This record gives sequence, C-alpha cells and structure tokens, in this order.
Amino acid sequence: MNIQNSIQLFRQAQNIFPGGVNSPVRAFRAVGGQPLFIERGAGPYLYDVDGNRFIDYVLSWGPLISGHAHPKVVEAIQQAAFKGTSYGAPSPLEIELAQSIMEFMPNLEMLRFVNSGTEATMSALRLARAYTKRDKIIKFDGCYHGHADMLLVQAGSGVATLGLPDSPGVPAQTAAATLVANFNDIESVEALFKQHPDQIAAIIVEPVAGNMGVVPPVRGFLEKLRVVTKREGALLIFDEVMTGFRVHPGGAQALYNIKPDLTTLGKVIGGGLPVGAYGGKREIMQLVAPSGPMYQAGTLSGNPLAMSAGIAALSLIRDETVWEQLEARARQLETGIAFAAQKVGVPVRQTRVGTMFTTFFSETEPRDWNSVKIADKVRFGKFFQKMLENGVYLAPSQFEAGFLSTLHDETVIAATIDAAEKAMMAC
Ligand SMILES: *Cc1c(COP(=O)(O)O)cnc(C)c1O
Repeated sequence: MNIQNSIQLFRQAQNIFPGGVNSPVRAFRAVGGQPLFIERGAGPYLYDVDGNRFIDYVLSWGPLISGHAHPKVVEAIQQAAFKGTSYGAPSPLEIELAQSIMEFMPNLEMLRFVNSGTEATMSALRLARAYTKRDKIIKFDGCYHGHADMLLVQAGSGVATLGLPDSPGVPAQTAAATLVANFNDIESVEALFKQHPDQIAAIIVEPVAGNMGVVPPVRGFLEKLRVVTKREGALLIFDEVMTGFRVHPGGAQALYNIKPDLTTLGKVIGGGLPVGAYGGKREIMQLVAPSGPMYQAGTLSGNPLAMSAGIAALSLIRDETVWEQLEARARQLETGIAFAAQKVGVPVRQTRVGTMFTTFFSETEPRDWNSVKIADKVRFGKFFQKMLENGVYLAPSQFEAGFLSTLHDETVIAATIDAAEKAMMAC
C-alpha cells in the first residue's frame, strides 16, 4: 500500500503536535506503523491522502451513524452557516435538538448542551456533588468518561491502549476522591459504599462498556447499580456518550429499562460536530446556573452549526426500519467475523450490542478490564495491519469499539468479512 503522502505529513505533524496527533489513539502506537492522513470521507468509506479507500469502522469514534458526509447532514450545516456560525444567545435550534433527544430518552426532563463528552461528564459529576453534598465518586476500571482530572483514574481507551498508569498532572487529592470498582461486579461496589458511608455522590458508568472494547453488562448488573445508589442516597449517572443512539434508539437506558438520575451524551447527537449534553431529573438539573448555584457555562454551547447537524443526524435514525436494518447488518458482521475466526482457527471472543462491536483476540469471556486486558495485542496488531491492507479501517487498538453506519450495506459487510478471513489467516 502506498502511503507516501501520509508519511510526509506525519513527519511534519510530529514537529507540531505531541506525537503528531491531536488525540492520542490516532497515533497507531498500539498497532505499529503510522497514522494515515485522511483526505475525505463518503458514506461508509474513508479516503486517505494517497488515494487509498477504506471501509471505515471508526466513524470518527462513533458519531457518524449515517456515515460520512451524509447529504442531509451536510445540507443542514450549509444552511445553518449562511445564517451565522455562532450567536452567543439562545436560538430555536437548541430547543429543536433537545426535544428530539428527549423524545428518544424520556428520562431527560431537562438538559444542558456543552461541546464535548468530556465536558458533559465533568459537569454531570459536579452536579451530582452539588446535589448530594458529597465529594467521592465511583467509576469502573476500564471505563472512559473523557479526560477531566477526576475521571483519569484507571480510564480505559487511550490510557489503557498506551499502558499509562494514572496520568501525571492529576492532583493526588482529586484522584483520591475517585473510587474504582470492577465492571460487572456489584460486590466491589457494595464494598466501596461500606468503606465510605455517606460520602459517595454518584456512580458513573458506561452502561455498555465501550472504551475497553465492547463489554456488555451481565444480567442484573445495571439493575443492582440502580438499587444500591437509591439505597445509599447516591446518584446513578449513565455515561451514554458512546451508547446513546448506538445500542438502541433510546440508548442503553431504554435497552435495559433502567432510569438513571443523570445521563451524559455526545458523539451521535452532534452529527459529527462537537456537541455534548447532560441531563436528567428536573429537580437535579435545576441546580445548574442560572436557575441554581452550580456553575457551568460555554461560549460555543448550543452552537447553531452543531445543533443543525445534530437535528439532521437524529432525524435520519428516527424510523424504526433504520434500526432493523442496522441490527441485521451488525449481526451479519458479528457472525461473519466469528465464523471466519473459527474457520481459520484463531481464538476470538466477538462482542456486540447494537451497532458497537469488538473482536477480542482472546479465549477469555470479556467481563471486566481484568478479563479483557489479557487479550493478544500482538495478534490484534497484525490483524489490524492486514485489515488495513485489505481496505478495512478498524480502530487502531484492541481496546476500542467498532461502529457501523446505516450505509454499511450487505455488500460492504461481506467485503469486510472476506478481508477478516484473509487477515486472520495471516495472523
Ligand atoms: C468519547 C467518550 C467520552 C468523551 O467524549 P469527548 O467528546 O471525546 O470528550 C466520554 N464518555 C464516553 C463513554 C465516551 O465514549
């Protein structure tokens, strides 16, 4: 594969950006080789600056559920841009997108738009602390909730990919207020509540873990989190930045029928532009400034381009038949890859919930970070490179989710499975 232009650009980029990138996992450190520079995206495809075409399963790390440059989304952004790119004052677009989100997620009685998932989780935790007047929070080993100080503790995603411990620069005091439990292990949660009675403000959880690769919740786990938090007077925060509009139109909370107190969103709701949101019970949300004392603000929050892209994006997935199609295609991919692995004799554990999936090169059932981290990263690296050579762009890490779009049709998936079989044979 010719990647001369990417090589040249990466050389330049390394002089300008730390590691040559503006977000760590993009650097391909876990899989070897170097990142490809992208010229454009169209539907299910990415085109790099050397003219190579790839079927894309990263989809900007989740947002692009209708594929790259969907004409409806592009048109919405164009129309909005003609009317100005930011007002710093309310616009009707904010209400329209919020109402659209609330239709899918009726648990959100009120919400606040921000500009990224990181901002959403950071703000939701501040709110949980303000509401409960407690300082400590519980997160799960291997779950990622953005890069705010108190959340960079055993954080999955890039932190896990790069084998970093806890990030330097996070004050010890801040990290100490973050307690870590094991995903899918309610006993580890109960133990923390016992050790820190009346001090825990909230549990924040990816209801389907995606940032250690896709690890579904075991039956009863989320229900028990709901029961425990209620009993202990702590809030339950579902971080649905990834799972929102990915595992079910109503998110994991609809799929598993759990009512969290607060929900954080991002990715899909911005249609590929920078948007985040946090919301939940009215009584709690009313603590947010200016209706309440908990301060949180944003110069570009509710930005009209981002709102317009989000409105268009959600309108494209409103129809139930779209979800039936997505489910059918996702199942085709899941079973196809698992079958290819079996045929070639490579041990894998294939996980999937809705349009999120991971192929773990492991014989151990993925259940939490401890069972996931033993996956064969060397083998994954080889698989990744072979897939790339065969025209399939996967997340450059074993510990990330893959994503489907509505434009990954039967032919595209079949081509992917073909490539997977070839790649498995070579690793
Ligand atoms: C991506 C992600 C975030 C962070 O969102 P950014 O927009 O990258 O800041 C937070 N939580 C989860 C579950 C995510 O997947």
